Amino acid sequence: MSTESNPKNYSFQAEVAQLLHLVTHSLYSNPEIFLRELVSNASDACDKLRFEGINHPDFYENDPDLHVRVILDKDAKTITISDNGIGLSQQEAIDNLGTIAKSGTKDFMSKLTGDQKSDAQLIGQFGVGFYSGFIVADKIVVESRRAGLEASEGVRWISGGTGDFEVQDIDKASRGTDIILHLRDDAVEYLESYKVKQIINKYSDHISLPIEMQKEVWQEEEAAEGEEPKGGQMVKTGEWEAINSASALWTRSKNDVTEEQYVEFYKNLTHDYEAPLAWSHNRVEGNTEYTQLLYIPSKASQDIFTRDAKAGIKLYVKRVFIMDDADNLIPNYLRFVQGVVDSADLPLNVSRELLQESRDVKLIREGNARRVLTLLDGLAKSEDEQDQEKFKKFYAEFGSVIKEGLGEDTANRDRILKILRFATSTNDEISTSLADYKARMKEGQKSIYYVTADSLTAAKNSPQLELFKKKGIEVLLMADRVDEWAMNFVHEFDGMPMQSIAKGAVDLGDLQDAEEKKALEQAQEQFKPIVEKLGDALKAKTKEVRVTTRLVDSPACLVTSEGELSPQLVRMLKQAGQAVPDVKPTLEINPEHPLVKKLEQTGQFDDLANVIFDQAVIAEGGLPEDPAEYVKRINSLLMK
Ligand code: ADP
Ligand code: MG
Repeated sequence: MSTESNPKNYSFQAEVAQLLHLVTHSLYSNPEIFLRELVSNASDACDKLRFEGINHPDFYENDPDLHVRVILDKDAKTITISDNGIGLSQQEAIDNLGTIAKSGTKDFMSKLTGDQKSDAQLIGQFGVGFYSGFIVADKIVVESRRAGLEASEGVRWISGGTGDFEVQDIDKASRGTDIILHLRDDAVEYLESYKVKQIINKYSDHISLPIEMQKEVWQEEEAAEGEEPKGGQMVKTGEWEAINSASALWTRSKNDVTEEQYVEFYKNLTHDYEAPLAWSHNRVEGNTEYTQLLYIPSKASQDIFTRDAKAGIKLYVKRVFIMDDADNLIPNYLRFVQGVVDSADLPLNVSRELLQESRDVKLIREGNARRVLTLLDGLAKSEDEQDQEKFKKFYAEFGSVIKEGLGEDTANRDRILKILRFATSTNDEISTSLADYKARMKEGQKSIYYVTADSLTAAKNSPQLELFKKKGIEVLLMADRVDEWAMNFVHEFDGMPMQSIAKGAVDLGDLQDAEEKKALEQAQEQFKPIVEKLGDALKAKTKEVRVTTRLVDSPACLVTSEGELSPQLVRMLKQAGQAVPDVKPTLEINPEHPLVKKLEQTGQFDDLANVIFDQAVIAEGGLPEDPAEYVKRINSLLMK
């Protein structure tokens, strides 16, 4: 007895309706991707069954060999994608096939321009999952039964791809989902088996379960007595054969995978439409055994700097999919890396909590970090022009992310330092490595000098840089938000101390001659009374006032002591809402500057002293503590 119920009607979520309109009304540039999308869904459904099957072996019923089947019916003009995966309950069909939940599609929707031609191109790039079926079909029927439900608890979902869909109960003996596409007249080419095979080979060859079609044989027409047969046709045999190689790509040997296959696999994995910049594929044996296939994307995801940023590693255990976004498998500063890790040693029922504690996971994470850094170092060092171009792209997108590793990953600090590139006081392009800098250092120079600021322009014009410019000493310019924090963890590179030129007193060592040193001593002597008076006037704002030789054009600058938070970092932390201890900077004055000289005879010592201090704050990219007072003092000085 049939349990088929009367169909109930539902409306699509507004976004779905909008998307469907677009799919069906656009000049579609790449219709064949509907097969990729539907096969990928079928494969996901089988992955889900494998996963749930760990705790519910009964879900397999008597049908344990998971597969996807593609069935062509020329008479009915349908193509059916059938799987024996997890299936859909009625509620799941209503929810999952009537709304858009996934972020990729939402992202896609937000990029739509309304211009049909360019939007059509966009769909081709993004892929829009299940709804792409409507590119080639004017009606889609989904028949499904979820694993664990009775045969009488099947569901049929029908839609013409406009505003609504229908759902009804049906009997369905076999577990899983059939997606039946009623092809439009202009899409009948997808009834040709050679065509379908070709597309599946192109997009879905790596899918780790068999994609099967009915075997066909050539049957010649009966010929009349004594005559040659005139023709014949392909007939289905009823036997199924796999048309993909069905080996998970990462389980193959590197030599058996083409560059194109690596790229296609990446696109399938990430839904990214741009090819990756580079990848590393290895089987690791040792304390723990696993396969890693790690990709460097060519673009950062929009949320890379937010807390929502997800790690891009999928975890498999012995080829069984376990979880997406396995963030324990890659350090946070490499969160842009996408790929697959397939462990031979982890248990299948591993949970996120377990992952955190596992020794195997720790080893895998370290192995992944090393691989990625080696890969990047290789690109950075390569003489090949294309590699250099790739490295540049990588650095522009992810340079500031990877710097977080200086604080996060002590063990790899030297590896990370080698990959970093900087602008310098003599070269605007962000292309100088620490090794390059070291090779260009002046004779007698004993430190690698750097300055951090809010922007490259600010760094380049910072007062602290003046003496270095005058003496022709190159200084690294750093303007990423993370620099100031990250450089706290870096004390040397390749045996050479790293020295912030805004921290501590300048000590140029042998780069300063005896005459300059003597001049400083003299100035210190001469300005002693002024320095003391300044110290008193600015007691609330500064820790110390002293005479410096580091300035050329500016009257004064702020410096912090070694190991102390800089004003810039204090600002950043405060903005981030963190409690920061009050640190008073040291004020250094330039004895050669007319304003400083003027301090000796001015009648408005207090005003001038405070203005000099506040201007030093401004030159740093900060604001005077009391801007109104600053303006008042300036005006009062201007009037005189
Ligand atoms: P995505 O695959 O990115 O989630 P899709 O639009 O391709 O988005 O699919 C939407 C949802 O429909 C899937 O997440 C899944 O829940 C459900 N679905 C689609 N095809 C199948 C299938 N063959 N078996 C089970 N569920 C499916
Ligand atoms: Mg999908």
